[in-house]
Amino acid sequence: MTGDAGAEEYLFLNIDEDTMRELGFESFAEIPVDKVHFSPKVREMCAENRCGRYGTSWACPPGIGTFEECVARCKRYAKAFVFSTSYELEDSFDFEGMMDGHAHFSAASKELRDRLEGDFLMLSVEGCGRCKSCTYPDAPCRFPETLLGSLEGYGIFVNDLAREAGIPYRKGAYSVSYFGAVFYGEREADPSGGEATEDGRAGEVSV
Ligand code: SF4
Repeated sequence: MTGDAGAEEYLFLNIDEDTMRELGFESFAEIPVDKVHFSPKVREMCAENRCGRYGTSWACPPGIGTFEECVARCKRYAKAFVFSTSYELEDSFDFEGMMDGHAHFSAASKELRDRLEGDFLMLSVEGCGRCKSCTYPDAPCRFPETLLGSLEGYGIFVNDLAREAGIPYRKGAYSVSYFGAVFYGEREADPSGGEATEDGRAGEVSV
């Protein structure tokens, strides 16, 4: 999208709407980081290892860091730019369709990360798969500067994130949607001097 007098009109950082569409992302919206709901319960679900990626790389728990470390990394920033794409499935057992969508979204996320400029933290779908054989847990990650953590691995409720961003979590009975987020923007100091809650909701988990 181009603004008046030839000036670029960015959605966030150096990325415009045309770039997001070109990469294959169909929905996106920005929310304040304080609207992102973090919970250690999501990490507990990761530990059940239903996706088969728990403890297999530096991109997922426990290698990605503790829940508290992950929340603190996100809360360094003021905003979260949430993005998503849905993929059609033949039926609710279309595992191959789900994996194809996952692979497409993962590749598009890496391409987006490579185009981003500035100070940011990007999270996307789980897993890394960059190296033929991951160094985890015996040696440090070979490419820590480009490592993409997962939303769930950071303790984020993705369905809550979708609702806060106004993006449907599911777009149909036979579809699967994947989500990512870029955290960016300078965070102002809390004028109250108090501790922020995980999701800005009183009484919820805090670090
Ligand atoms: S970049 Fe390589 S070493 Fe690092 S987490 Fe991914 S697969 Fe493992």
